[in-house]
Amino acid sequence: MVDTMQAAVLEEFGQPYILKQIPRPPQPKDHDILIKVLVASYCHTDAIFASGAMSKDLPCVGCHEFAGEIVAVGGKVSKSLEMSPGIRVGVPGRAYNPCSTCFECTNPDKDPMGYSPFCPHAGNLGLTRDGGFQEYCLVDSRQVTKIPDGFPTNQVAPLMCAGLTVWAALHHERLRHAKKVAILGAGGGLGHLGVQFAAHLGLSVLAIDANDKSLAFLRKVKQELESAGDNVQVADVRKDDVASMRAMMRETGDKPMNELGLDAAIILPESQAAFDTGIKLLKNHSTMVIVSFPKNGFHFSAHDLVFRDITLVGSLVGRNYQLSEMLLFCQKFKVSADVKTFPLSQINRLVEEYHKGVSGKLVVDMKL
Ligand SMILES: [Zn+2]
Ligand SMILES: [Zn+2]
Repeated sequence: MVDTMQAAVLEEFGQPYILKQIPRPPQPKDHDILIKVLVASYCHTDAIFASGAMSKDLPCVGCHEFAGEIVAVGGKVSKSLEMSPGIRVGVPGRAYNPCSTCFECTNPDKDPMGYSPFCPHAGNLGLTRDGGFQEYCLVDSRQVTKIPDGFPTNQVAPLMCAGLTVWAALHHERLRHAKKVAILGAGGGLGHLGVQFAAHLGLSVLAIDANDKSLAFLRKVKQELESAGDNVQVADVRKDDVASMRAMMRETGDKPMNELGLDAAIILPESQAAFDTGIKLLKNHSTMVIVSFPKNGFHFSAHDLVFRDITLVGSLVGRNYQLSEMLLFCQKFKVSADVKTFPLSQINRLVEEYHKGVSGKLVVDMKL
C-alpha cells in the first residue's frame, strides 16, 4: 500500500485548490532531501500561476516559499551542507535539480560550482514541480538554507521568496553606492520586508504606497523599527507629489532642490503609475530596479534613459549565499514578516483573503 498525505492541488486554472490525499513522495535520491513541511506561504506568483497566465502543466501542488524539517537525505547530498534528519531548512522554489553544466551553473558567483538559481534547465517547486502546500516535499539540498537556531519557523517561509527577492534587489550591484532609495508598493508582502532591510542597512528609505490600509501598516512598520525607523519616510502618492517626496528625503547640506533626487527606486507594483513616479524621483545617472512583471510590460521614455542616463535593471531571485546572509541579518536585526496563519484545510480561504488585499504575508501552518 502506498503512503498518502494531504495536499492542496491546483487541477484547473482559475479554480480553487483541491484538498486531497495524494501519494507521499518517494525516498530521496542523489542531491534530494525529503522534508516534512512545517509552514508554507502564499506569493503573488501563486496567484498569477493559478490564473493560467504562466501556462505550466497541471495538476500541481502550489507554493514556492516554505520551510520544513528534514526526514531523509539522498545519497549524493554533500556532507559539507550538514543536512541530516531533524534539521530545519527554508526552501525557495527556484532551481530544483539544475543541470550543473550550463553557463549559469558553471559560473555560480559565490555559490558552489555546479549549482545556480539562474539555471534555465532547473525545475521550480510550486510551478513546474509540486511545492509546499502538502505534508511532505522533495527538495534539492543545494537550493535550501539551514534555519539558524532560535529563528521562528513561520517567519522563514515568507523570506524564501518575498524576502529574498527584495533583499537581492537592494543588493543589486548597481545599488552598491546608493544612499537614498524609494520603495514603491512598500506596504505589501515584499515591500514591508524591503523597508526593514533597507532601514537596517542604513539607507534612507522613501516608503511609498497608495491606499490607507497599506500606509497605516507602513507607519506601524516604521514605529516598530524604533531608532532605525528614523531612516524611513512614508509617502502617500495620492497626496504627496514628486517634489514633496524629494523634499522629504532632503538632508542638510544637499544641493539645491531642483538637482535633488534619489539614487535608486525599487518597483514592486505592476502599475505604470508606480513606474512613472519612481523614475521621476530619481536623480540623473541612477537606477530603477524592476521586480514586478506586468502582463503588458512597462512603458519608459527614451528621454529618461538617454538624457538623464537612468539605468533600468530587473531583479528576480537571489543566490544561495544571499539566502543565508539574509536569514542571519533578519535574526540580528529582528526583521520580521507580518504573518497571518491558516491551516492547510483553509487554503482557499487564505487565497480569498489574499485577493481582498490583506497586508503582510498569508502563511499555511501545518500544525494548525
Ligand atoms: Zn514568489
Ligand atoms: Zn544549469
